Amino acid sequence: MNHLFIHNCPVCQSKINGDPIVVPEIDPSFGKTIKKKMWKVLLKKIIFFPYYRCKCGMLTTKTFINEKTLKYLYSDMEENVYKDDNKNNDIETKKSYLAQIQNFLNSDKKKINLLEIGADNGNFLKLIKEFNNNISSTVVEPNKKMHKKLKLLTKNVYGDIKQLPTNKKFDLIVAIHVFDHIPNLTEFLKKIGKKLKRGGYIYGVVHDEKSIMAKILGKRWPPYTLQHPHLFNPNTINNLFERLHYDKNFIIRTMNFFNLGFLFQNLFIAIFKKKINFPSLFSIGLKLGNFSFLYKKQN
Ligand SMILES: [Zn+2]
Repeated sequence: MNHLFIHNCPVCQSKINGDPIVVPEIDPSFGKTIKKKMWKVLLKKIIFFPYYRCKCGMLTTKTFINEKTLKYLYSDMEENVYKDDNKNNDIETKKSYLAQIQNFLNSDKKKINLLEIGADNGNFLKLIKEFNNNISSTVVEPNKKMHKKLKLLTKNVYGDIKQLPTNKKFDLIVAIHVFDHIPNLTEFLKKIGKKLKRGGYIYGVVHDEKSIMAKILGKRWPPYTLQHPHLFNPNTINNLFERLHYDKNFIIRTMNFFNLGFLFQNLFIAIFKKKINFPSLFSIGLKLGNFSFLYKKQN
């Protein structure tokens, strides 16, 4: 099982003990390999690494996929936006993120050095640049398939944080749906923290494992997947950033825009494991169980 490793709590570094509290139908901890097919396709059987509650409150796996294998698995994926849903909904969702940080981005159109990690298809960066074209942007995106698109927005495109120029410091780091994907999270945050100026900000969005949606769907809640070594709630994210000497600016439950037909289709897959093609109907904004946050690095 050399593609797997056993890890401690990503927030407090304690050893994970006791029984898991969210258990899949298939536990890959003892399987042979994680195939790309398992990674991409919505499987009939629910497969993920069991989640445990650490004594610090964090929800985390104990066994997870090692860095080398993850790199391989993430290297050529389709866009993260839901394929069947339309592009407008993705943009509507990202517009609401922009609204949360636009006061900061506006500041008299001052020159801002921005780093986006996990920039995906570049939709958010595009919105930011439309809002303030005086922003100098750099992106890190492990999925090489997105690089061509991203290069239309900035010449500074990297596949890994290790490749970032050593002398460059940022005013703002954006990471949307990133932190719940990264094993060795504290180490990762320390690395990117060094890229942040004193008093600089980190803005992110993650899934909320204490959301109503998570309670209703139980183990069928879609964020319980092979791609998430741990999942946050507002308390655990706060605990994480406090330990790393950041001050909270805000935590907000975010709105996601969906096509109603698409939403029904996915609920049916989650609950009944059946794909039914609903008519596309209209778009709605729902607080579906994600939250955003802004933290300021202490001086
Ligand atoms: Zn812990």
